[in-house]
Amino acid sequence: MSGYTFPKAKEPIPSAGKDDLILVAGAGGFIAGNLVAYFKDKGFTRIRAVDKKPLREWYRKVPGVESLCLDLSDEMNCRRAVEGAFEVYNLAADMGGMGFIESHRVDCLRSILINTHLVESASRAGVKRYFYSSSACAYNTDLQQDPHVRALKESDAYPAMAERGYGWEKLISEMFCQEYWKERGMATFIARFHNVYGPFGTWTGGREKAPAAIARKVIEAKDTASGKIEIWGDGTQTRSFMYIDDCVQGIDKITHCDELVATPLNLGSSELIEINNLVTIAEEIGGVKLARSYDLDAPKGVAGRNSDNTFIKSVLGWEPTTSFKVGLEKTYRWIETQYAAKKAGKHVID
Ligand code: NAD
Repeated sequence: MSGYTFPKAKEPIPSAGKDDLILVAGAGGFIAGNLVAYFKDKGFTRIRAVDKKPLREWYRKVPGVESLCLDLSDEMNCRRAVEGAFEVYNLAADMGGMGFIESHRVDCLRSILINTHLVESASRAGVKRYFYSSSACAYNTDLQQDPHVRALKESDAYPAMAERGYGWEKLISEMFCQEYWKERGMATFIARFHNVYGPFGTWTGGREKAPAAIARKVIEAKDTASGKIEIWGDGTQTRSFMYIDDCVQGIDKITHCDELVATPLNLGSSELIEINNLVTIAEEIGGVKLARSYDLDAPKGVAGRNSDNTFIKSVLGWEPTTSFKVGLEKTYRWIETQYAAKKAGKHVID
């Protein structure tokens, strides 16, 4: 499915028991922070959460979790982070929405250091299952020039023409993970996320993605009574957006499916949303109607992108199901609380 095929596991791969150590990298960020909370809720007693950000800047600090501030682009820190770990989840990366990845290609490319050192350290430490968070940006961009896209299937990554910077880093890190399985025998699992959104994530400051950015702009417009909203691009771009609860559940399912070893697959919603429609839904949640202006020079990424879920459904009998309206409502309400707290001069993570 990935353009290359890899041998399947000959014997069942061990999974972490409730008292085995799980390492979650990038845990001060959006997805990994929510993943830590998910594993904690599932009853795992030993979770190590690592991020290079100081603890006071983490979106979620889950009580009872060992939380460490370490820069994982440094090999010695990776060795320290994986000590005693049974499973490793690598969600650490320098990343953001289109506004960030189009103008910070060097930073995105340098995330290669994180996975390179972490996968090597994990393999040396005898980690049983290693998860890597790839992205739909790894897909060939030539296939995404039309807003009425056909959904991307796993084999569409090759021949490769990934998103410059960020997408190429993902593709080569996927390759590292696959070869660590083939040559070193560490079971690796790779999901290509399609836009993820939800509470406890970036909502302002330049790294935020479209759902959070639009929700915040509607909240701002209401608060300032400006009556208007600016949209990046002409609003006809299309994307699919996966709610965070589906994402963390999907990571768990993928990492514990032996059939998926070293096999990159889509983890995304197949509900296609036009950006103009996203604005309409956010306006409905906020109970306002705003005058729209379009910034045609702003970064807008590919014209259209959707997730073909045929493969994930065939293997797991599951796909993300939270409707965009339901997920955006929850996200909007959370951003509203953050916006109000910030305005009141309280410390918030943005
Ligand atoms: P995020 O920016 O909220 O979290 C990433 C975290 O990694 C940040 O807290 C950051 O401080 C940390 N980090 C960066 N460099 C580090 C380093 N050297 N050492 C330790 N920690 C470091 O991003 P996210 O949305 O939670 O994304 C998590 C993963 O999922 C990333 O690999 C990202 O590329 C991938 N992904 C996310 C999306 C999405 O829509 N959010 C889509 C596709 C792929």
